[in-house]
Amino acid sequence: MIFDGHNDALSRLWCQGGDPVANFAADEGHINQPAARAGGFGGGFFALYSPQQRKRFEFAGFKGATMPLATPLDQAPALQSVMAQIGIAQRLEAAGALTLCTDAGQIEAVMDAGGMAALLHLEGAECIDPELLVLDALHALGLRSLGPVWSRPTIWGDGVPFDAGRDGDTGPGLTADGRRLVARCAELGMVVDTSHLTMKGFWDIAEMGLPLVATHSNAYALAPVTRNLTASQLRAIGQTGGMAGLNFATVFLSAEGWTTGRATIDDCLRQLDAMIEGAGEDHVGLGSDFDGAPLPDGMRSCADMPALVAAMRKHGFGDALVDKITRGNWLTFLHRTLR
Ligand code: ZN
Repeated sequence: MIFDGHNDALSRLWCQGGDPVANFAADEGHINQPAARAGGFGGGFFALYSPQQRKRFEFAGFKGATMPLATPLDQAPALQSVMAQIGIAQRLEAAGALTLCTDAGQIEAVMDAGGMAALLHLEGAECIDPELLVLDALHALGLRSLGPVWSRPTIWGDGVPFDAGRDGDTGPGLTADGRRLVARCAELGMVVDTSHLTMKGFWDIAEMGLPLVATHSNAYALAPVTRNLTASQLRAIGQTGGMAGLNFATVFLSAEGWTTGRATIDDCLRQLDAMIEGAGEDHVGLGSDFDGAPLPDGMRSCADMPALVAAMRKHGFGDALVDKITRGNWLTFLHRTLR
C-alpha cells in the first residue's frame, strides 16, 4: 500500500460538482475507489485548495508556460471552497470510501486494513484570518498539514510564479504574519509545507527551526523550474529531518517535460535518484499531485502505481528502499511530527 504526499482529489470533486460519493466511486480522475484498489493507493495528504474559479482543470495538451503570479484571493471565497472540500471528505468518510486521519498510527491502521487514509492538508492559507482563529477551527476539523501559500501573493508571504530557467528565488519570504502562522502550526504539531513557497520563505522556515518539507517538489538540477528544489534546499531537507515528495507532474520532471508537457516513468526514476542523492534516502517519498497535474506516459491514474514500483525495482532499488519511498519515510516523519 502506498502513502503519498500530495493530491488534489477533493478540489477535483468540488470543481466537478454533483454527488462526490458517486463520482469518487466511478473510475474518473487520477484518484478514485476502483483505481486506488487496483493500484494499492492507501492514502496520503489530501489537499484543500481554492482555485481562482470553480471549474475542472484540463490536463490534455497541458505544457509549461511562464505565468505571472495568480491574483490574490479574498478570505471569504477561499473559506467557502475549503469548507466545501472538507464537507466532501466527510461525505466520503461517511460512505466508507476513505478515513480521515490525524496521526500516523491511525494512518497505518487504516492502510493495514486495506482502506484509504486521508490526512487533510491546506494548500495556500488564504482562508485563514490574521488572528489565526480559523486555523484552530480547521485543526479541530482534522487539518494536520499546511502550506502557507500556493502560487499567489498572500498576507503570509508569496508563492512562486510558474516559470522555467530560474529557481524559486522569485520574491520576498514570509511576512511577520506568515511567521506567526507557521509558529502556530508548529505549536499545534502540524506539518508545514514549503512547496509553492519562494526560496526566501523556505529559508525563513528553516530559520524558525522546523523540519523542511516540500510535499510535491522535484530536483531543480534535472528540471529547472521555480517549483523545484535546488541542491542546497534538498540538503537542508535531509539535515532538518524533513521530506521531499516526488511530483509526477510532467512539467516538473524534466526540462523537456516543461516544453513538451510529456514525461516518462524513467524521468521519475532520474528524479528519485537526484532527490535521494540530495536529501538522503530517509527523506524522500512520493508527492504525486494526482488530480492536479498531467501525468507521465504509462501512468493514467493511481491504478498505475505498480508500474512505477516495478520500474523502481528494475532500476535497482531494493525492497527496503522501495518501502521507504512509497510509504515508510512519510510515516516515520508523521510519527515524529503529528501530535
Ligand atoms: Zn501544488
